[in-house]
Amino acid sequence: MNKRDYYEVLGVEKNASEADIKSAFRRLAKKYHPDVSKEENAAEKFKEAQEAYAVLSDPEKRKQYDQFGHSAFTNANGGFSGFEGFDFGNVSDIFEDLFEGMGFSTGRNRRASTNSPRKGADILHHITIDFEEAVYGTKKDIKIDVDEDCDECHGKGGFDSKTCSECHGSGTITKEQRTMFGSFLSRTTCPYCHGTGSTFARTCSECHGSGKVTNRKTITITIPAGIDSGNRLRVAGKGGAGSNGGPNGDLYIEFNVREHEYYKRDEDDIYIELPLTITEAVLGIKKEIPTLYGNVDLTIPSGTQSGDKMRLRGKGIENVNTKRKGDMYVITKVIIPEKLTRDQKKLFEELSMTDLENNKYFKSYKNCIK
Ligand SMILES: [Zn+2]
Ligand SMILES: [Zn+2]
Repeated sequence: MNKRDYYEVLGVEKNASEADIKSAFRRLAKKYHPDVSKEENAAEKFKEAQEAYAVLSDPEKRKQYDQFGHSAFTNANGGFSGFEGFDFGNVSDIFEDLFEGMGFSTGRNRRASTNSPRKGADILHHITIDFEEAVYGTKKDIKIDVDEDCDECHGKGGFDSKTCSECHGSGTITKEQRTMFGSFLSRTTCPYCHGTGSTFARTCSECHGSGKVTNRKTITITIPAGIDSGNRLRVAGKGGAGSNGGPNGDLYIEFNVREHEYYKRDEDDIYIELPLTITEAVLGIKKEIPTLYGNVDLTIPSGTQSGDKMRLRGKGIENVNTKRKGDMYVITKVIIPEKLTRDQKKLFEELSMTDLENNKYFKSYKNCIK
C-alpha cells in the first residue's frame, strides 16, 4: 500500500507547530467523521487523518517519523503496526471539544446540564375563542398536560443512586469501532445511565425512571380585551416543571378568534354592512347602528351611494397593548328590489323620466362610448 505522507494528509508544513497540527486535524475530523460526514470515502479519509494525527501530535513519534518515515511504524511483515498499537490518549482529547463543537453531548457538558438547575419546558397551547370574548376580554379555564416532578421519587427517577458502572460516572462511552478501513473513536451518551453518570438500585415505578409525570391541570387564564387571531399570551411559570431546582417553563396561549356573523375585523377597526333601500339612499334617513358598545344613531345623507363608507370614531376594538380604541366603519349597500308589485313598477317607470344627464358618472360614461 502506498501511504501518503502524514504532513500531506493533514495539509501542514514539515515545521508545523503542535497547534497547527491540532487545528488541521480538527478540521479534517469534522469533515470526515463517519458519524456525520456525507463525503465520499469519508471513513477512509477519516482513518488516514486520525493516523497522521496520532503520530504527528506525539513529539516522540513525530521525531521517529521525521527520521524514518512510514517505516518507523512498519512491522516485520511489512504491515503497518504503529497506529493500532497507539493509545488514543491524545486523540480522544481532541474529541472532547470536537464533539462539543459539532453539537454532540459529551461527558463534560452532558453531566453539567443534567445536574445543574434547568428551566422546565415551555408549553404552547392553542385555543379558539368567540369574537365577543376577544373584544371584551374574559376569563377562561383551560386544561393542559404539564410534566411535573414525580412525587414518589421527588423527580429523581429512582432510589439509592450509585455511580454508573458502565461509564464510571462520566455519562459517555467512547467506543473504538473496527471497520474494514480501520478503527474509529466514537463517543456516545451512556445508554445505561442516559448520560447522568449514575444509576439507581431501584427504578421508580411511578414515573418509570423519567422523574417526570404528566398531569392534566386546569388553569384559569385572563384574556385581555382586544386579542386577535395569532396573538400569544404568556403565562409565566405555568409550563413544565424545572429540574434540579430550576424554574418552571412558561405557558404560551395562542389565540384563534372566530369570525363574527356581521362584523368584519381589520386589526382594531371593524366593518359592518348597512343595507339601504333605494328610497333611503336617495332621500337620506336616520339609522340605528349596532356598535360593540350599544346602538348609536347615524344619519345617512340623501344621495348616498352603494359602497359609501361612514366612520364611527372610537367604536372599534380596544388595542390589546395601547388600550386605544379603533374605529367602526359602516359600508352602505343599496339593495335593488328583485320583484316589484304593479304599483311599484309604475312608480319606477315614472322615476325613469328623471334626468340624470348631469350626474358625473353618467356624463363620463356617455363620453366614453361616443
Ligand atoms: Zn453510564
Ligand atoms: Zn418517580
